[in-house]
Amino acid sequence: MGTEKGLEKENVLEKENKKIVLPGDSLGTEEEFIPGYGTAVAEDGEVLSAALGEAKMIGRKMNVESEVPGMGLYPITIGTIVYGRVESESPMMALAQVGYPKVGGKRASNYSGFAGLHISRAKKGYTKSMSEVVRVGDLLRAKIVKYNARQGLIDVSTDDKHNGVILAFCSLCRQRMVKIGTDEVKCTQCENIESRKLADDYGSVEGIL
Ligand SMILES: [Zn+2]
Repeated sequence: MGTEKGLEKENVLEKENKKIVLPGDSLGTEEEFIPGYGTAVAEDGEVLSAALGEAKMIGRKMNVESEVPGMGLYPITIGTIVYGRVESESPMMALAQVGYPKVGGKRASNYSGFAGLHISRAKKGYTKSMSEVVRVGDLLRAKIVKYNARQGLIDVSTDDKHNGVILAFCSLCRQRMVKIGTDEVKCTQCENIESRKLADDYGSVEGIL
């Protein structure tokens, strides 16, 4: 029985010969190939990915390569903190461009792409709409919770103290907003008051923009 399952897996690998894997993803068993770099072997002989990257068969050896041609290094591991600018916002979901801005004069992340923030991962408790969490143009700090290789999209969360909006911009006049209460900000120009999920160090992250 085990052999049949093994053969099936090997055929899939031969066909694709390459796939994006996450740490902990099963690659197969020690009977199928030799575990190479970027892999780990579990007690029962199952070979697991130890990195985020491309699972590649080279000869009889299975490697997980963390550098992808044209995309640079994948710094993406679950739990990694990323910074981004919110590009779009709908009632249930916001999308941020990650890899921007620079923090303290350094690029915040090697990863460049889109991060999706779903309302269920935005803040603790009930949230009516994403407009209470972020608005387009805001700068955000978030934690990677998932990587969808197919869409080339990372999923992030902001539902802990330290993550959330680090700088908000007024949705009416685009000016910077200052914190006036828990998850409440006020425009420095038109005095418009809006809600956000604020990071605990809102307004004090240096070197951005
Ligand atoms: Zn304003």
